[in-house]
Amino acid sequence: MKTISTGKIHSLESFGTVDGPGIRFVVFFQGCPLRCQYCHNPDTWEISSKPKYLYEPDALLKEVLRYKSFLSKGGVTATGGEPLLQPDFVRDFFTLCRKEGLHTALDTSGYLLSDKIKEVLDVTDLVLLDIKATDPDLHKTLTGVAKDNPVKFLNYLEETGKPTWIRHVIVPGLTDNDEQLEALAQFLQPYKVIEKIELLPYHRMGIHKYEQLGIPYPLAGLDPLSKERLDHAREIFKRYSFTIQ
Ligand code: SF4
Repeated sequence: MKTISTGKIHSLESFGTVDGPGIRFVVFFQGCPLRCQYCHNPDTWEISSKPKYLYEPDALLKEVLRYKSFLSKGGVTATGGEPLLQPDFVRDFFTLCRKEGLHTALDTSGYLLSDKIKEVLDVTDLVLLDIKATDPDLHKTLTGVAKDNPVKFLNYLEETGKPTWIRHVIVPGLTDNDEQLEALAQFLQPYKVIEKIELLPYHRMGIHKYEQLGIPYPLAGLDPLSKERLDHAREIFKRYSFTIQ
């Protein structure tokens, strides 16, 4: 008898407009192996903490289908946290979504890759891959983990021809310098699967969650990225012929 997977879900958003194309039903998963200094969802980090919601795939699909008429040009996005900590559930949920004709997008750090995760990618239409930094030391400082796994993940997406959008957060004093931005653009340029780059300005919107959780905020005192610096970063990437958002 097939075991039914159960998803530990942090929250649901029925009309998401920033996590993939069109209007999307966004599922925030509980649990993440990274600890990005700028993370605005620290309340998703612990998978062992009591999740707000436990869903079986067909029950979550039922929630999605209440909004199906709005999702025809959009679809469903799994984000977090790190959805790939729960590959069985994401695979089963995406499989059901696709049977309903819904586009599936996966937002991931690319830190995990296994045979089960490859099964998730088989039923994923679009990957939103967060690339944190190209410099190994900076990557470790920013996220707490080495940069090798996301590179292997991107290589797998390239091998399998999976449509990919890259997301990169620009943080003043860390990733906001021309050398880092040029290095990232040069690193990404050979990958044919990359359809778009989303450059995301560092902001401070998650700070109150750190206070609520009693966790020191690593970037206390840092100002958000200015519009001028964001525009400047966009110009750098445009020189490499990327489509920028
Ligand atoms: S990968 Fe995402 S959820 Fe995990 S710590 Fe980094 S920003 Fe937060």
